[in-house]
Amino acid sequence: MGVDNRPGQKHSSIENLVIIGSGPAGYTAAIYSSRANLNPLLVTGFDKGGIPGGQLMTTTFVENFPGFPNGIKGPELMDRMKAQAIRWGTKLIEDDADAIDLKERPFLIKINGEIIKTNSLIIATGARANRLNLPKEEKFWSHGISACAICDGSTPQFRNERLAVVGGGDSACEEAVYLTKYSSEIHLLVRSNTLRASAPMATRVKANPKITIHWETELIGIYGNDWLEELQIRSKDSNQIENLSVKGLFYAIGHTPNTEIIAGQLDTDSHGYLLTNSGRPETSIEGVYAAGDVCDSEWKQGITASSSGCKAALAAERWLNANNLIILNEQLSEIPKEVSTQTDTKISSEANYNSKAVWQKGSYALRKLYHESSKPLLVIYTSNNCGPCYVLKPQIKRVLKELNGEAQGVEIDIETDQDIAKQANITGTPSVQLFQQKKLKAQWKGVKQRNEFKQAIEKLL
Ligand SMILES: Cc1cc2nc3c(=O)[nH]c(=O)nc-3n(C[C@H](O)[C@H](O)[C@H](O)COP(=O)(O)OP(=O)(O)OC[C@H]3O[C@@H](n4cnc5c(N)ncnc54)[C@H](O)[C@@H]3O)c2cc1C
Repeated sequence: MGVDNRPGQKHSSIENLVIIGSGPAGYTAAIYSSRANLNPLLVTGFDKGGIPGGQLMTTTFVENFPGFPNGIKGPELMDRMKAQAIRWGTKLIEDDADAIDLKERPFLIKINGEIIKTNSLIIATGARANRLNLPKEEKFWSHGISACAICDGSTPQFRNERLAVVGGGDSACEEAVYLTKYSSEIHLLVRSNTLRASAPMATRVKANPKITIHWETELIGIYGNDWLEELQIRSKDSNQIENLSVKGLFYAIGHTPNTEIIAGQLDTDSHGYLLTNSGRPETSIEGVYAAGDVCDSEWKQGITASSSGCKAALAAERWLNANNLIILNEQLSEIPKEVSTQTDTKISSEANYNSKAVWQKGSYALRKLYHESSKPLLVIYTSNNCGPCYVLKPQIKRVLKELNGEAQGVEIDIETDQDIAKQANITGTPSVQLFQQKKLKAQWKGVKQRNEFKQAIEKLL
C-alpha cells in the first residue's frame, strides 16, 4: 500500500527520525534519539499489530529485565519507558501508521489521513498473536476465546471452570500456569510430542497437577451457544476425535511480524521478518532501520528488543549526521524535570466519596453515582494485570477532563468487585459501559479511540 502524496493532503515539515511502534524496541530507540537531540516522533500504534506499549502490556511480572531484582509488572515497565522517552522530548502520535512509502526521500508515512515526512525511520512494529482461523472462532472470540490469559483469565466466566490452552511454547506454558490460579483444570493442547518452552517452564507445567497435557493433539472444532461450551480435538496419532467441555480457550500459537505497512518495500525472510545485516539494525534501504521482534524470529525478548532499539537509534543518528540531514532541536540546556508514572486511585468509601469527583474507584462510588447522579457515567472494568487497561485508563481520564466535569467515571476492579462484574455481564477487560440515569447507553470491549467515548457522552449532554 502506498502513501497518497497528492496535493490536498496535509504535509508537516520534515522530521529527523520517525519511530513506528511503542514496545521496548520503539521506546528505547526514542530514549536514545531524544537524548541525542534528534527530537524524534514516535507513532505508538493503536490496534494494528498489538496495543500501545507492545506485548509486555499483556504479561504479569517480567522477572528477567535487568535492573528490577524483584521483577516488575509488564505494563509498569512500559509505562516507565514511555515516561523516560517523553521526559527527553520524544513527540508521540497515539495512532496507527496506515502506510509507509520508501520510494522517495524524505520517506512518507500516512497516519489517519495525514502525511508525515521523515529523513530516517525505525520500524519497531513487533509481532502479533496468531489465530487458528477455525469455523466459529470469530463468534466465540471474547465469548470464551481469548489470546491473553493475563488480561481475561480472572473474569468471572472463567473462574473455577475447566479451560484449555492451545500451543506448546513459552507463551502457552506461561498462560497455562497463570490460569491455574483461577481455574479448576487446564487442558494444554500440544500439536507435537514435546514442549518448545524453556526447560524450567516445561518442567513447571509437567509438574503442575492442575494441568493435563494432550500430546500430538489438534483442535478442530469450537461449539457453544452464546458462550463457548465444547471443543473437538483429534489425536494425530490415532485419528480419534474427542469432545472436551471447557468454558474458556486461550490461544498461544506464535506470532506474525507486523510488516504489512511496508510490504514489498524491504527485504524480509520467508516468514515476513525484516532482514537486517547480522547483529545490525540496517535494512535493505539506507536510512531505514529495524528493531525488536519485527526483525527477530529467534530471541524475542524485552531486553533484546531494547538493545536493537538502541542500536537503531545510534545508527540513525550517525547516518543523519554523515548525510548532513539533522535539523537540530533547540539545544537541551537543562536536565529535564523528573516525571512520574501512573498512580493508583484509592477505593472510595463512605468516608472519602465525593459526589463531584470526575474519577473514582470501587463499588461504593459506582452505586452512589448510578443512583444519584444525573450526569453521564462511564464505568471502566479493569483487572490488576491487564495491560490494555493501562492503555485505556489515561485515555478515559483525558476525555473526562476535556469534558470539564460534565460526565463522571468509575473504575471497577473485577477481581475485587466480582459480583458487580457478573451483574454487568463483563466477559473480559478492559470493558467500558456508559450509563445515564440508570440506563445503559453504550458499551465497548477492548481499547478504543478516545473520540468514541467522547462522542457518545456528548450525545447525552
Ligand atoms: C505473554 C508474553 C510474555 C512475555 N514475557 C516476557 C518476559 O518476561 N521477558 C521478556 O524479556 N520478554 C517477554 N516477552 C517477549 C517481549 O514482550 C517481546 O519480545 C517484546 O515486547 C518485543 O518488543 P518490540 O518492541 O519488538 O515489539 P512489541 O512489544 O510487539 O511492540 C510493537 C509495537 O508496535 C506497534 N505497532 C504495530 N503495528 C503498528 C502500526 N502499523 N503503526 C504503529 N504502531 C504499530 C504496536 O502497537 C506495539 O506498540 C513476552 C511476550 C508475551 C506475548
